[in-house]
Formats: sequence, C-alpha cells, structure tokens
Amino acid sequence: MDGGERVLVVDDSKAMLDLVAANIEEHAATPVLKARSLAEARAMLREWGKRIVLAVLDLNLGDAPDGEVVPLVRARRIPVIVLTGSLSEAIREKVLRENVVDYVHKRNANEIAYVASLARRILANRERKVLVVDDTASFRGYLARLLRVHCYQVIEAGGAREALEILAAQPDIRLVITDYNMPDMDGLELIRRIRDRHSRNRLAVIGVSGESDHRLTPRMLKAGANDFLHKPFEAEEFYCRVTQNMDTLDYLQHIRDAAQTDFLTGLHNRAYLFEHAEGLFRNAERGHLSLTVAMLDIDHFKRINDSLGHAAGDIALKTVANALRDELRGGDLLARVGGEEFCVVGVNVEDPARMFERFRRVVEETPVETGEASFHVTISIGVCQQPLESFDAMMAAADAALYVAKHGGRNRWVIAELESTAPLAACGVLAEAAPQDT
Ligand code: GH3
Ligand code: MG
Ligand code: MG
Repeated sequence: MDGGERVLVVDDSKAMLDLVAANIEEHAATPVLKARSLAEARAMLREWGKRIVLAVLDLNLGDAPDGEVVPLVRARRIPVIVLTGSLSEAIREKVLRENVVDYVHKRNANEIAYVASLARRILANRERKVLVVDDTASFRGYLARLLRVHCYQVIEAGGAREALEILAAQPDIRLVITDYNMPDMDGLELIRRIRDRHSRNRLAVIGVSGESDHRLTPRMLKAGANDFLHKPFEAEEFYCRVTQNMDTLDYLQHIRDAAQTDFLTGLHNRAYLFEHAEGLFRNAERGHLSLTVAMLDIDHFKRINDSLGHAAGDIALKTVANALRDELRGGDLLARVGGEEFCVVGVNVEDPARMFERFRRVVEETPVETGEASFHVTISIGVCQQPLESFDAMMAAADAALYVAKHGGRNRWVIAELESTAPLAACGVLAEAAPQDT
C-alpha cells in the first residue's frame, strides 16, 4: 500500500461497509480503510495516524453500541460523518456536540451516494478559503470552528477594513461571511465594496445579523449578498447555506470552464482564445512582451473522414491536439478554433522558425492509432510575428500565410512578411520551410 491519504469507514455490517467504501472510492477518489468494530477502528487509527483524513462511522457497533467510536476519532481531529440506522433526539444532540460534519440515515442507496458526495466535498474544502468578518471575537470564533469541522481554510477579520485588506491580498477566497453591526463599517457597506471588485458568481457573501429589523435581509441581498442568516441559527442551517453557496460557485465555474473548452480535444476553444488573446495583445502593445500568432490546419483532413470515417477523423484531431499541447511552453496559448484548425499564440518566441518546425515535425511523426488503423497526418502552418494593429489582424495575417503554405504543397510553415499598414493581399513570404528543406 502507498503512504497516501485514506478514508476510514467503520460499520459492523460487511455489506454496508463494502457499499459505502465502493461509493467513496469511486466518488471521492480516495482509498478506504475498513473496520468492523471499535477495536479494529482503534488499530487502524494507530497504524495510519494522520493519513486518515476523514472517517465515516456507524454509531451502533458490537463493541460500541452508543456511538463511542465518534469521540475516539474526533479526539484525533479527524472530520467525521456519522452513519446511523435510527436516530433518537438524544443521540442526535450527543452526536452534534462532537462536532461531526453531518449524520446520515442509512435507509437507501441515495443516502449512501450522499455520503460519498459529502466525503468528496469535505476533502475538497481543504483547498477552499472562507473569510469570517465579525467584531465580536466569540461569535467569529464560533463560526470559524463550525467551518473548520467542514475542513475549510478559515481566515478571520475583526472588522470590515481588515476584511477588505485580506481580500485584496488573497484573491482565492471563495466565501465571505459577514456580520452587519461592526464599528468601523457596517456589513452593508462592506458588501457594496466587495461587489465593486468581486462578482457574486465567483465570490459568495453570506450576511449574518441578529437585528430584529427584517428589512435588513433584502437590503443585504440587494447590496450583493448571495445569502443571509438570522442569528441565532442552528449549526445545520449554517452548513446547508454554506454548502449550497459553495456548490453554486462550483457549478458556475464548471459552466464557465465548459463554455471555454473544446469538447472533443479538451483544448481551449475559440471563445477562450479571443477573451485571453486580447489581454495578451494589449500587454504586447504596451511593450511588455512580443506575440507570435500562428494558424495550424491539418492537411487533407477531409480524406481521412471520407476514407476511414468520422470517428477516425475525431481520433486524428485528438492526437494532433495532444501532440501540439505537449510542445507548448507555459504562457503560450493553444486553441482549437475550427474543425481541424488550431491557433497558437506564443509569448516572446525567440525563434519562430524553430518552434513551428518542431510543431510540424511532431505532428508528422506522431502516429494516429484508431484501433483498426494506424496512419500519419501532417499540418500546414501560417505565422504572423509582426505586431499589427489588432489581434484579429495578426490572426488574419497568419491565415494568409497558411494559405500560402497550403498552396506551396502543405506540410510546411510560412512566416508572413508584411508592412504593418499594408493590406493582407500584400502578404509575402519572409521564411518558409517544407520537410525537405530542414
Ligand atoms: P486542406 O489540406 O486544404 O486543409 O484540406 P482539408 O480536407 O483538411 O480541408 P477542408 O476544409 O476541405 O475539410 C475539412 C474537413 O474537416 C471537413 C469537415 O467535415 C471536417 N471536420 C470538421 N470538424 C470535424 C470534427 O469535429 N470531426 C471530424 N471527424 N471531422 C471534422
Ligand atoms: Mg485542412
Ligand atoms: Mg480547414
């Protein structure tokens, strides 16, 4: 066994143990240690120590019928999800006092799937930062403790100004939980200032207040809070709201990623290219860096589809995409911009001839394996390395050079030579190379 992280699952029923373990290994991508009694759990804790990062515990074990396993595990500060057949109010109270992540009734497969998704979330929370803002240290500490039970990285601020400073220094904070009544600046004003810089789709804010004035809720929401909690509240409600807001942010991130990713190759798509290339272009204009824009197009791609089928064409596209991706340096950008067309935006490329000769050759040399056939494809490349008036203009110049490469016989690169103000028709060839030239 490797020395990596483990989830400990304790249940006296072997069937349940196997079911929960399989679900967790699949959905939370962490190997599971199984124990069927308090004694076995104790031995696992001794053997694995800090490598146990989460525990799922049955309250009713042969040698521990009243949840004794929970304090045993919590004493080591391991986050705990409780699994239980029945849950009396007394046991619920007792369990919650132990600061467990959640308790789940093992009634059906849905609940087991919930345990697995909860396990994944708790392990992921270790990377998520939450900022708690409250001038009252005791309440701030209480919220921080609750959040730490769910494994969030918690940062505390004693006032609104301190909160703004922390946010400026740590842009990866995902959630702010803020009190309303604070001496240096109230929660409403803090939320407004946060929203000047951070959209609600990337940074969630939950307002908290004990004010009896119920008009505060809509005011906080209108100022830009994603959610609101009225003091006093149950820990369970707090967790539900925090989790829901985090889930929403994750979902929005997923949609943003999907909208900017090419489904077939996993490369960036056209939308991503234009959004990010504009920024690079402006930096180039300011003289911070030099840009090289290249258009790459697979040669006679239609023939592959026609002779071997569309599925083989798709595999060829993926093979070329992976080969190009492996050649990329950090900071460079590669996107699939059309059917079998790719665009590369290189930053501070010293020797474009060498770079694109490498691209040409790696594609030529990488076999496309479909399972039924193995074949090779080639690409033609048009390059613009002169600063023009816009990114679009550089792309058009690269496209014109690509056209020259195609008509020159394909499987070659051409670097455009053009006056920055000249029309594209004036595109000449600064340098070009086909395989035999190199
Ligand atoms: P050239 O060397 O001049 O570039 O010739 P070509 O055949 O590569 O170029 P053409 O533009 O005539 O054909 C491109 C083909 O790419 C046509 C289209 O059916 C195919 N294509 C576009 N998108 C996909 C895709 O996602 N999968 C597959 N398999 N084929 C695609
Ligand atoms: Mg083509
Ligand atoms: Mg094409």
